[in-house]
Amino acid sequence: MNIRKITALLLLVNLFSSQTAHAQKEKGLETITLSSIQAQTVYLASDLMRGREAGTSDAARTAEYLASQFCSLGLTPYVKNAEGILERYMQPFAAVRASEFSSRLSIQNDAGVSIAFTEGIDYQISGKPTFNGVLSGKAVAYDSLADHRGQFVYYQGTPSEQTVSKLKVQGAIALFVYDSLFWEQNTEKKAFQYHYNEPIYEGFSPRETFSDTKLVPDGTSRIPFVQIQISKEILFLLKKSCCDITLPLSCKRERVFLRNVLGVLKGEKNDEYVVIGSHFDHLGIQNGYIYNGADDNASGTVAVLQIAKAFVASGIKPQRTVIFALWDGEEYGLLGSRYFTRTCDILNQIKGYMNFDMIGRNHDENVPESVVFFYTANYPKYEQWMKKYIRHYNLSLKPIYKPWDNPVGGSDNASFAEHGIPIVWYHTDGHPDYHQPGDHAEKINWSKMIDIIRSAYLIFFDMAQEENE
Ligand SMILES: [Zn+2]
Repeated sequence: MNIRKITALLLLVNLFSSQTAHAQKEKGLETITLSSIQAQTVYLASDLMRGREAGTSDAARTAEYLASQFCSLGLTPYVKNAEGILERYMQPFAAVRASEFSSRLSIQNDAGVSIAFTEGIDYQISGKPTFNGVLSGKAVAYDSLADHRGQFVYYQGTPSEQTVSKLKVQGAIALFVYDSLFWEQNTEKKAFQYHYNEPIYEGFSPRETFSDTKLVPDGTSRIPFVQIQISKEILFLLKKSCCDITLPLSCKRERVFLRNVLGVLKGEKNDEYVVIGSHFDHLGIQNGYIYNGADDNASGTVAVLQIAKAFVASGIKPQRTVIFALWDGEEYGLLGSRYFTRTCDILNQIKGYMNFDMIGRNHDENVPESVVFFYTANYPKYEQWMKKYIRHYNLSLKPIYKPWDNPVGGSDNASFAEHGIPIVWYHTDGHPDYHQPGDHAEKINWSKMIDIIRSAYLIFFDMAQEENE
């Protein structure tokens, strides 16, 4: 056979195999059905899952269900046992739950009288320091040229973000801020706090909120930097630099366990990976209301389950090894995905990450097909692929393309973008039920959700098949 014939034959073989691959890819696509996405979303967002709060048995039960789905698809477990053999879908990790925060600031005036102040009336601590102990010292005025290590610093006005982070880096202990605007706005807002400004609450005591509890990674440094809004009266005392300040802080600390659920589909290459993920945790139960989190983020969780199923059904062994990831602890600050990237020994072999967080609702009811498509700006091909598949498969989606230089915010995409890994993030944007008990499955726009999952499967397939770069 001459060289031309060989080339022609090879071309034919190539054409045939790429057509077969195409048909196989479509075979996977067909398994993404309305009834299957509805069944899984309704289950995950049912009252019996009790809002899937990280660190509770409700999240653990959800994770068991998700692992059973990966197992039934025949995915390989990601987590190795002590002998280095892959054996578990669950990647457990510990965190510390802090709650019941309290503080009691007191300042001794120049007559030696100690005056106690009340949080919420005289001062307001930003964030919740997970610290038990007593801070004490004297205050000095902020000086941009000074080193404020170990000091209590006071500031009049609104400090810039740079000022605050400089003080943190220097190791200042506390920043007392007197900002007259803060007090005006705060007292006005608080006047009707328990009555009319909340559509779902008209109680007489402060409402329990998700942020009354904090989950922090195990081993987090507890040397505090406390930022405090203070009243004018406190500022007056602080300005007399002789006054001794004491600030006892306390909270209840408990160890809790979380778990990511991770399944692997082995590719031809075992030194190149792509990861697709969503968080499955949500806000749990507060004030007796179950925060079902159908959109946030049962919808994204279902996308990962569906795409895993479609990959398996295609029968194709992808070029790159695929990791299907369901993250715990996102609502408390990306705990699961950060734990994964922090402990991952193949991080520099991960070539791309696709994320879903809230893909089921309409931000604007006049444009129900709208979806925000965030992607790392250096990878315009992701946008091109999205356009191609919407056209080719006639998907009813109207994407808002958001190329992003450094997509380190918003959701679990941040944990990957921080390490320079290119990302795609699907998100259908805010709505009135965002982080409210009304985030129910029956409000999901199913036809949009299914088309988002279809497009994501097609794009993620290409991410898995790409040549190295
Ligand atoms: Zn979310």
